[in-house]
Parts: sequence; structure tokens; C-alpha cells
Amino acid sequence: MAEKYSVPRGTFDILPADSYKWQYVKKVFSEVAAQFNFQEIVTPIFEQTDVFERSVGGSSDIVQKEMYRFQDKKGRNFALRPEGTAPVVRSFVENNLGMTGGNTKLFYLGPMFRYDRPQKGRYRQFYQYGIENIGSDNPFIDAEIIAFGYAFLSKLGLKNFELEINSIGCSNCSKDYNQALVEYFTPNLDKMCSDCNERINKNPKRLLDCKVPSCKEIAKDAPNMLEYLDEDCRTHFAQVQEYLNLMNIPFKVNPRIVRGLDYYNKTAFEFLDNNLGAQNALIGGGRYNGLVEQFGGKDTPGIGFAGGFERLLLSMETEGVSFGEEPKPNVFIVAIGEKAKQLTAKLLFDLRTNGIKAEYNPDKESLKAQMKAADKEKTRFTLILGEDEIAKNSIILKEMISGEQQEIPREKLVTFLQDKLR
Ligand code: AMP
Repeated sequence: MAEKYSVPRGTFDILPADSYKWQYVKKVFSEVAAQFNFQEIVTPIFEQTDVFERSVGGSSDIVQKEMYRFQDKKGRNFALRPEGTAPVVRSFVENNLGMTGGNTKLFYLGPMFRYDRPQKGRYRQFYQYGIENIGSDNPFIDAEIIAFGYAFLSKLGLKNFELEINSIGCSNCSKDYNQALVEYFTPNLDKMCSDCNERINKNPKRLLDCKVPSCKEIAKDAPNMLEYLDEDCRTHFAQVQEYLNLMNIPFKVNPRIVRGLDYYNKTAFEFLDNNLGAQNALIGGGRYNGLVEQFGGKDTPGIGFAGGFERLLLSMETEGVSFGEEPKPNVFIVAIGEKAKQLTAKLLFDLRTNGIKAEYNPDKESLKAQMKAADKEKTRFTLILGEDEIAKNSIILKEMISGEQQEIPREKLVTFLQDKLR
């Protein structure tokens, strides 16, 4: 008996019944990227482990617990990418993309890998779409990045999402704020989880977004970041909000958003769909001034976001929005007899290469079996080619919904169908 295999836990196959939905979402994303003038960048799915350890950071779950690490045959340390920003910044520096000055506007699409407990909306291999704008600290750009997310979700027809924004300040504001957090949390640490106990010294802000209920209860009354922003960060955040208001993009300020990765500063934001349950973040993003410098580039500010396709598709299904047209042929050919089958070889090729989606099943012989196959494909037209039509150099076109039939000269078929399908 041959062994039967299944996909690894936390991963899934995208089967034909769903793959067109993925194609649709990718197409819409690429359209919005073009409208906002972002160019695609494709980086490898694995990188030197350091790319993530140094940037995403030692206090993040991603690096501490979730990275798929491996050594190659020469003993070099690599990791399957858990996120897209660090590889993009690595490439930005390596390829001098910022050389010409101005803003470098990039988007990416592809799989990411995190070893986490799988659940609805959380997988070990998942697919992200993301954008980065590297080169400016202007709050106008923060608003533009957020506007991209809003435009994308709206273009898909989604309505039940919410935008929450925050400023987590810069290293200057964080000094006092972190101190205030340590003072607030320290007397409560015995009631908090082991992660929080560990993080208090590395990155006390992370205690604000712990999901453990007892920790949440304590974090509720913690000091508010927004009260600790310095002049520059406060003005920056106010301007981001002003630009969002000018674009009529609704948002809520939520001082609890900290984002799990170490490289973030200033603006942080999330698009949430509260119908999704525990994994409700559709998109997460923020500013990462200083990251380019960490990768050995010259000090260049940056901001971006990433979202997961799986949750997006769940949201779209829950809201019942359209995934575009289901892929199916325009015409199905029914050919009776060997001569007709031979003519069909050429006919099919001509139709297909002239932009008409056409199908034929050479394994079905009888008229009845072929008509049944045509019905199953649910095409708009069936073309019927029998002895009579061969003799007359014509073909019968049947409109499947109305059942109407007409005979068409074969040399006019392509233009006739092109007109009908326009
Ligand atoms: P993050 O980099 O954790 O902020 O994630 C950005 C977005 O990617 C989230 O808002 C989700 O939509 C998606 N995402 C992150 N982790 C997963 C996962 N394990 N499975 C599915 N989607 C994920």
C-alpha cells in the first residue's frame, strides 16, 4: 500500500474552486498599487537569520518563538521569512535603491512563515500583500500609506472594517514612557503572564497588547503613550490625522496599538474586522525610521503595512462581496464524427488564440454525451459541428440560456463571437 500524505499542519492547498478568488484579490491589489504609484519588488523566501533577528528584534514573538530556522550544507544560518519589511529594507540597502533620492515606493506579494499555533485566520504558511515607502518622514506619506489600505479594502467592496491609529513615539519619547510603564507594571508582575514578566525589561510597551485576560485587565489603566509624545512626534501625529480627515477616511485613535515588532516608531495602525473573531487584524503597519540605518544604509525614514490574504478572503466571504467572474469558457464545442473532431483541433486553436475561451472534450463521442458535458461547463454558447455543417462550411451556434440556434459561416465565426462577447 502506498503511503498517503497530507499538507503540513498550519498550511493549506489553494484549490481551483478558490484560486480564482486569490487571483482576483491580487489583481485588485496590483491595480491599487499602480494608482498609488508603487512598483513590485520580489525577494527570496529565505534570508540570513540575522536579517530578522537584528531588525524585527529579540523581544518579538516572531523572532523568539516563531521563526523557521535552518542551516544549509555549509552550516550557514537561514530563516524562512516571517515578514516582508526586513527583506525589502535589506534589498533597498544592498541595491542602493535610494540612490536617486526621493521616495522609493515598493509593494510585495508572497508567502510568509511563522511557527505559531494554527487557528482560524492564523496559519504557519500564509500570504501577505504589503507596501513600503522608504525616504520620507513627512506625515503626508503616513496618511498616504494608510489611504492605500483604505482604498484597497474599499475597492474590494468591504464595509465592516475599522481603522485604528496610534503614535508610539520615537526613542526620545520612549525613554520616559518606558520608565513610566516599568513603574506601573512592576508591582503587578506577579499577576501577569511569563511573557509579560520577560518583556518588561526588553520592551515594556509590549505589555500593553498582551492578549491574556488578566494582563489585559492590568494594562487597561497603564499610562497613555500619547501623553508622553515629544513635540515633534505630537505634531507629526496631529498632521497624520489632519490628512486622513481631509481624505474623509474615518479612524479611531487607539493608544493600545503597539505592534509586535521592535523596529516600529511614531505612527502605528491597524485595519480590523471585528467579525473575524480572535484574529481580527486585516492589515498592520507603521513607521520604521532608523531601520535602513540598522541595515548599514544611510539614515532614511520609512513606513509600510502588511496584510494577510487569508483573513481578507474570510472577510469578503462573510460580507458576501463579489470575487469577480468565476472562470469558465465562453464556448463549448460539440463535434459529431471523426472529420468534425479533426476540424475542431484547428477551430479550438483559432478561437483560443483570438481571445475566446473555448473548451472541447475529445473523450465524449455521442451528441448526447457531448451536450451533457457542455451543460456542465455552463458556457454561454455551444458550437455544434456535424456532417451537414462540415459540408456547408458552417457551424451551429446555440445560446444556452434562451436555447436559440443559428447557423454561421465558419470563416465569420471568430469575429461573430468576438462581437457577441464584447
Ligand atoms: P504582522 O506582521 O503580524 O503585523 O501581520 C500583518 C498581517 O498579516 C496581519 O494583520 C494578518 O492579516 C496577517 N498575518 C499575520 N500573521 C498571520 C498568520 N500566522 N496567518 C495568517 N495571517 C497572518
